[in-house]
Amino acid sequence: MSDKAALVADLLAHARFLEGLDTVGVAWPRSSTAATADRAASLQAVRDDLGDCRRCRLAGGRKTIVFGQGNPEAELMFVGEAPGADEDEQGLAFVGRAGQLLTDIIEKGMKLRRADVFIANVLKCRPPQNRNPEPDEILSCQPFLEAQIRAIQPRVIVGLGKFGAQWLLKTAEPITRLRGRMGEFQGIPVMPTYHPAYLLRNAAGKKDVWEDMKVVLKLLGRPVPGE
Ligand code: URA
Repeated sequence: MSDKAALVADLLAHARFLEGLDTVGVAWPRSSTAATADRAASLQAVRDDLGDCRRCRLAGGRKTIVFGQGNPEAELMFVGEAPGADEDEQGLAFVGRAGQLLTDIIEKGMKLRRADVFIANVLKCRPPQNRNPEPDEILSCQPFLEAQIRAIQPRVIVGLGKFGAQWLLKTAEPITRLRGRMGEFQGIPVMPTYHPAYLLRNAAGKKDVWEDMKVVLKLLGRPVPGE
């Protein structure tokens, strides 16, 4: 691509990003005492703005938009990569095998209820054959995930795997370097950790994820099982 073409592509991507921002009508900053109804209503406003999204090519191949689900007042939020086949089918984040493992991490490990956290993804539509998200797809979805985070105001966010962690921390560093090192997203503490799908193939990584979740529990002022 010539320099000029690259510049035009950059400007177009930025214009799409700003266009998305304009459509997301969520107030920021919000007071930390905002009532449940405010957070739920703000989140619903984000969902309404998203509509039957056709902002990127993934709209053509998806069955269902996976907005993310959980408690609008969650203190803890998880951000994964993108819906897979099960999620696309059901319209819910993390409901396949990786989702079952995430549920175990939350409920059996952290002794929290999955319904009390909020779970979302960098992308809201399934990429064909579960390929990696493309940069322009990530940019198209970005304003909506940002607005979800502003609506929920979690106290801690866990970035699951390369895409969740890199998106939150605005870095291209590999997940192996990022994992376990706290960062922040717009002032909210972020813990990058391995993706549950990776753990299904590499059980040895579970030990590291548990170390990361213990730090998260401490940040939340919650009891750490086994300590
Ligand atoms: N993997 C993800 O990153 N997100 C899901 O929702 C399911 C699997």
